[in-house]
Amino acid sequence: MTFVTHSPVWRPFTQHALQPGAYKIVHAEGAWLAAEDGTRFLDAISSWWVITHGHRRPEIMEAIRRQTESLDQIIFAGFTHEPAEALARRLVEITQTGLDYVFYSDSGSTSVEVAIKMALGYWRHRGEPRARVIAMAHGYHGDTVGTMSAGARSVFNAPYEPLLFDVARVPFPQAGKEQETLDALDGFCREGAAAFIVEPLILGAGGMLTYGADTLREMKRICEKYSVLFIADEVMTGFGRTGTLFACEQADIVPDIACYSKGLTGGAVPLAVTMCKRKIFEAHYAPDRARAFFHSSSYTANPIGCAAALANLDVWAKTDARERVANLCAMQTERAARFARDPRFSSVRHLGTIVALDLKIAQSGYLATISLDLMRFFNARGLLLRPLGPTIYMLPPYCATGGELDLAYAAIDEAAREFGG
Ligand SMILES: *Cc1c(COP(=O)(O)O)cnc(C)c1O
Repeated sequence: MTFVTHSPVWRPFTQHALQPGAYKIVHAEGAWLAAEDGTRFLDAISSWWVITHGHRRPEIMEAIRRQTESLDQIIFAGFTHEPAEALARRLVEITQTGLDYVFYSDSGSTSVEVAIKMALGYWRHRGEPRARVIAMAHGYHGDTVGTMSAGARSVFNAPYEPLLFDVARVPFPQAGKEQETLDALDGFCREGAAAFIVEPLILGAGGMLTYGADTLREMKRICEKYSVLFIADEVMTGFGRTGTLFACEQADIVPDIACYSKGLTGGAVPLAVTMCKRKIFEAHYAPDRARAFFHSSSYTANPIGCAAALANLDVWAKTDARERVANLCAMQTERAARFARDPRFSSVRHLGTIVALDLKIAQSGYLATISLDLMRFFNARGLLLRPLGPTIYMLPPYCATGGELDLAYAAIDEAAREFGG
């Protein structure tokens, strides 16, 4: 059965009363998913932003197979293994100079929790405890209690609000109003804070909101002025999404702490890292057990995950990987331009491989369910798109061809005729 309706599975971000079923996928390759009955879906959002080069990239699949012949999971305290050692060395090499230490975990949320804990540990162990976190309006950093606290408050976390800790929040730097963000950040930093956490250049789940590299650089400069730690949440932006390997490269900044997860293994298996500057590691370094960094995931540095990530870095080392990203960026620029003056959409935006447009909705009756209505509309046309409210965005795997993008844009055009105002 291709559309599974009766199942004990409780799915994520799903209202089962409105979305009673799910398509059962049996095969994935390149930019495509295939269901049991042969129905195909173009994966225009890279399976929730994790797939980078394409599904089942052969080098990564082969590395996973090979790794299973020698190691499965081993404890990572007191013991280590070559895939984790080699991957850490390679990550230090390819990230911006200064990110010298690599802490392993297994999801984006965890990598952010680790970053926040590192920041608080840093200040405490220096003997100047600071606990305030500054974040940005509309930010998203994960779904655990700590990361929800740093993220925007919304219907998604309303029931848990009593548990969320308070953060200082700067406004999103809207075009032309960047100074308001910078002034707010300066004010909060001056009052004293442990860290500022931000998604560089584009806020993903907050609606694919983009801002400039100049603003990012300026925010980093303000944090430096007050020695507030700068945490870059590159969980979505890492590994090519914004056109460069990492978004921070475009602002020529080195964060004090950086989080990477989606795309680290090319999307094949879960793995995450939190990288940091030497001073943060050194603040935890002392002949005193109490100053150790007390965090561990059971599956820390899983060897199969590390092998997949190493194979992913090998793919990136080939020039055609970067060429493919550059081509996809150019194809997306061209297609975004076509919609830029389309009166059915507002604020068409584009950054690297990502395009987002806000559909002006015809009937207010659609408002509450627009994202579900659009999702169904696209699914029925063999397309995996998951609008965020009325924001339709494309975030395809890097192997997507111009023809495949056109299929998706044709469906978006059709959706605008159906739902647009
Ligand atoms: C997806 C995401 C996370 C959370 O990652 P998970 O692996 O889903 O826990 C954190 N930050 C950003 C910017 C993300 O896009």
